[in-house]
Amino acid sequence: MNATVNADPAELEKFSELAHRWWDADGEFRPLHQINPLRLAWIAGIAPLAGREVLDVGCGGGILAEAMARSAERVTGIDLAGKPLKVAQLHALEAGVANVTYREISAEALAEERPAGFDVVTCMEMLEHVPDPASVVAACARLVRPGGWVFFSTLNRNPKSFAFAIVGAEYLLKLLPRGTHDWAKFIRPGELAAACRAAGLDLRHTRGMQYNPLTRRYWLDADTSVNYLFATQRPAA
Ligand code: SAH
Repeated sequence: MNATVNADPAELEKFSELAHRWWDADGEFRPLHQINPLRLAWIAGIAPLAGREVLDVGCGGGILAEAMARSAERVTGIDLAGKPLKVAQLHALEAGVANVTYREISAEALAEERPAGFDVVTCMEMLEHVPDPASVVAACARLVRPGGWVFFSTLNRNPKSFAFAIVGAEYLLKLLPRGTHDWAKFIRPGELAAACRAAGLDLRHTRGMQYNPLTRRYWLDADTSVNYLFATQRPAA
C-alpha cells in the first residue's frame, strides 16, 4: 500500500481476517447486525433514500450498504480491506441486490474522482480505525453534493467509553473480539464537530446509541457518552 494512504495496515488486516464471518448475525459482527435497522431508520428518516445516489465509506462486508440499496437508487460501498469487499459483493449477488457496487479505494481518492458525486454519504464505525479521521471527514464533505447529507458514527473518548466499549464490550460481555478497538483513537463529539466545521459540513443532528446487555437491545437517545451518531449537511450552493 502507498505510504501516503490514510490507513493503518494492521486495522485493515484485522477486518480482512474476519471477512468470512461478516454475515454471521451471531458472530463477531453481531453488534453491527443488531444496530443496522436502528441506524438505517435514523438515516432514512433524515435523508429519504429513494432515488438517491449513496456512498458508504468503510463499508466492510456491506451490512449497511446492502440495506440502503434496498431503497436507494444506487449505493457504492468503498473500503481499503479487500476481503470484506469480496464478501460484500458475493452477498449482494446472493441476495439479489443489483444496485450496489463495491470498490477498493480510499475516500480521499474517490473525492478526486467524483467530487459532489453523491446525494448521501455514510461513514459508520470507521473513523476510529483511521490514522487521520479529519482527512476522511474532509473527503466525505467533497464527495457529497451541495445540500446533501453526510452521516458519521463513532465512539467517544472518556473514562466511561473505556469501561463500556473496551472492558465491557470486549472483555466482559464479549460482544466484540478483543483488540477490535483502540480507546486512544476514539473521537470526542467536539473533535468530530470541529472536523466537520473545518470541512464545511453543518452539524444538524446528534444522537447517542445505548445497549442494555440484559435485554440485548440497542436504542438511540441524547446520551453521546459512548457510541454516537452525527447527521451533517453540506450547505446548498
Ligand atoms: N461501516 C461498516 C463497517 C464497520 S467496521 C458498518 O458499520 O457496518 C470498520 C471498517 O472500516 C472495516 O471494514 C475496515 O476495513 C474499514 N477501514 C478501516 N480503515 C479504513 C480506511 N483507512 N479506509 C477505508 N476503510 C477503512
